[in-house]
Amino acid sequence: AAQARRKLIAGNWKMNKTIPEGLALVRELKGLVASLPGDRVELAVAPPFLSLQAVAKELEGSAVKLAAQNCHWEASGAYTGEVSAQMLKDVGCAYVIVGHSERRQYFGETDETVNKRTRAVVGAGMSPIICVGETLAEREANRTLEVVERQVAGALKGFQAAEVAGFVLAYEPVWAIGTGRTATSAQAQEVHRALREQLVRLYDRGTADRVLIQYGGSVKPDNAAELLGQPDVDGALVGGASLKAGDFAAIAKGG
Ligand code: PGA
Repeated sequence: AAQARRKLIAGNWKMNKTIPEGLALVRELKGLVASLPGDRVELAVAPPFLSLQAVAKELEGSAVKLAAQNCHWEASGAYTGEVSAQMLKDVGCAYVIVGHSERRQYFGETDETVNKRTRAVVGAGMSPIICVGETLAEREANRTLEVVERQVAGALKGFQAAEVAGFVLAYEPVWAIGTGRTATSAQAQEVHRALREQLVRLYDRGTADRVLIQYGGSVKPDNAAELLGQPDVDGALVGGASLKAGDFAAIAKGG
């Protein structure tokens, strides 16, 4: 079953790129990845909300999927500044990133709100990319697995196996994000394996084998192949290197 899992390489643009800049990036990217075997490697880009519609149009007829970086959990109403899951589905998103560490650090995201957002994403017919990861202090205190397992358990609370089978988890050690300091492939594999075993305990082996577990944190063309070669690393969530079409395509080809 492990060999059957496709790889998902997703580009998290964060708060970067105007609409014209984003369009130029995906235009270049489409050309570079046209020859990738779509059954084995899936690509997605997560532009800022503002660019989603324009990027969706640019991606028509391409295999590259659209993702959003966040969504609110309420369906609609008086929530100034927020965007609902249904709005994202309607504009063409297949995935929504939930619980990114920057949202946990700067915007008050908790395991409980991650769970609510995940429920909204699933309810609208999209797949969540649920981010988990320890800080440097937590790793140095040997609390890595305790932290990420708590985050996963919180995010998945109340979900059935059939729903979870379509989920994506992203292990992103906070100390590796935007720092140029990536986890070693052994460090990544250790955590990915532990998360898969947690999914076996929470659900069953078949479900655990279907969940994609991405690695994120300073993934670059020169370290991607090594990370993606690990048995439980099913893709990458790429920040900085996703802002250059050549780098992002090279990472996808490394898988
Ligand atoms: P990075 O970001 O690749 O720039 O480290 C990864 C992420 O935050 O998803």
